[in-house]
Amino acid sequence: MYEIGHFINGKQVPGTSGRTANVYNPATGEVQATVALASEADLQAAVDSALAAQPKWAATNPQRRARVFMKFVELLNKHMDELAVLVSREHGKTVEDSKGDVIRGLEVCEFVIGIPHLAKSEFTEGAGPGIDMYSIRQPLGIGAGITPFNFPGMIPMWMFAPAIACGNAFILKPSERDPSLPIRLAELMIEAGLPAGILNVVNGDKGAVDAILAHPDIAGVSFVGSTPIARYVYGEAAANGKRAQCFGGAKNHMIIMPDADLDQACNALMGAGYGSAGERCMAISVAVPVGEETANRLVEKLTPMIESLRIGPYTDEKADMGPVVTKEAQTRILSLIDKGVEEGANLVVDGRGFKLQGYEDGYFVGGCLFDNVTPDMEIYKTEIFGPVLSVVRAKNYEEALDLPMKHEYGNGVAIYTRDGDAARDFASRINIGMVGVNVPIPVPLAYHSFGGWKSSSFGDLNQHGTDSIKFWTRTKTVTSRWPSGIKDGAEFSIPTMK
Ligand code: NAD
Repeated sequence: MYEIGHFINGKQVPGTSGRTANVYNPATGEVQATVALASEADLQAAVDSALAAQPKWAATNPQRRARVFMKFVELLNKHMDELAVLVSREHGKTVEDSKGDVIRGLEVCEFVIGIPHLAKSEFTEGAGPGIDMYSIRQPLGIGAGITPFNFPGMIPMWMFAPAIACGNAFILKPSERDPSLPIRLAELMIEAGLPAGILNVVNGDKGAVDAILAHPDIAGVSFVGSTPIARYVYGEAAANGKRAQCFGGAKNHMIIMPDADLDQACNALMGAGYGSAGERCMAISVAVPVGEETANRLVEKLTPMIESLRIGPYTDEKADMGPVVTKEAQTRILSLIDKGVEEGANLVVDGRGFKLQGYEDGYFVGGCLFDNVTPDMEIYKTEIFGPVLSVVRAKNYEEALDLPMKHEYGNGVAIYTRDGDAARDFASRINIGMVGVNVPIPVPLAYHSFGGWKSSSFGDLNQHGTDSIKFWTRTKTVTSRWPSGIKDGAEFSIPTMK
């Protein structure tokens, strides 16, 4: 057993609320740690240290701020194995997959090393006689991030890297399910040269989130998690005068055209549907083969692949996927599968009875494949967030396109085809934020930006890329005139640059 507190003013501190949550080993079902759940007083301690440190950090020249990230990237690489195990131990995913989690965050840290260039401003010389105009981007002050359990490395770094590089102090409220990595990241940031108080980690649940949303000194909030909470955080943050970007759930479709390379498409579906036990917001959970023949061939090919998935604890180096995160998640996924059967979908591969010898109390769910799913079914409408793939058969391209277009969510989507015209038409017409053409999980790289449409995202600026620099700074525009001589008389009509 170990205890996880908070990270405030450059060091780990215990919680003061007396409230804790259990942190489980998803492979065994054992409680392996407790995590402190912050009170308002814990949050206030983090805000106080952020307020004290932020002005000096903002005044530190951007090259020096960038150097902290150079060193941090070096430390992440040096400690990669340790960091990945920290994730796997509490999340349950394989160690290789956890490395991907850390690396995707590391790439955002690499991106913000360019902050001297990224944060440069605009200048107009001679906007009028003797007048210069310039717009500068200044940090907000204190930003906060509220993150989900499924990427405890990548998503905190999506947020704190640009926020801190821009000169803000940052308070991270990670998921209470796997809180160890965020604390370790904060320690490494200090080792990399970040002043104490610029990155604080406050663990907690709804209480900590509500305290963040109500706090007058927190100017911006970034949230990633499920759609109902994203909507709530967005509304509360806006009502309290904060800027917010809130990212929610997903139901990502992959269209398989009759001309697609079916081996490639099936391999892609296996990784995108079952990797990380389907607990990714960019997982593919709906396959849409076009035409009966494509559908029959697809299901025939996929079935043995799903049946032979290797499922195990993170200590099994050969495992394709691990357990799901909690007992509640397992129960919810299993009941949704039951619901799909009740609704009349054809459960071609049934993973409900999966048991692993020696890990009988682990939260495992075997890979499942549903065929003949229709849009009115619960398993189609709901984000299952488990290793369950639904096949919805479409007669033609237009019918296939219509499915993700009409779905509530709009995070990611993919098309598999050899036809450039179909791919181009698809990318242009689809109302979804991230599109893959023969790429199953089109997560944009750090220098582009990440974000969905419709109920997958609230707010207008995405994660990372140049959007993140805009989100974590605000514009100040200065109009200055240095008169060349004495001017007399007042000007009463609005000045224009005629
Ligand atoms: P979640 O919504 O349960 O939790 C996210 C965060 O909100 C956590 O920090 C949690 O402590 C907090 N929270 C939970 N309930 C709350 C409440 N009632 N009030 C205030 N705060 C609350 O999500 P999760 O289960 O950790 O993560 C899975 C979800 O996240 C999935 O829906 C997945 O699609 C989504 N997700 C989205 C993206 C994206 O970029 N769009 C990325 C990753 C995950």
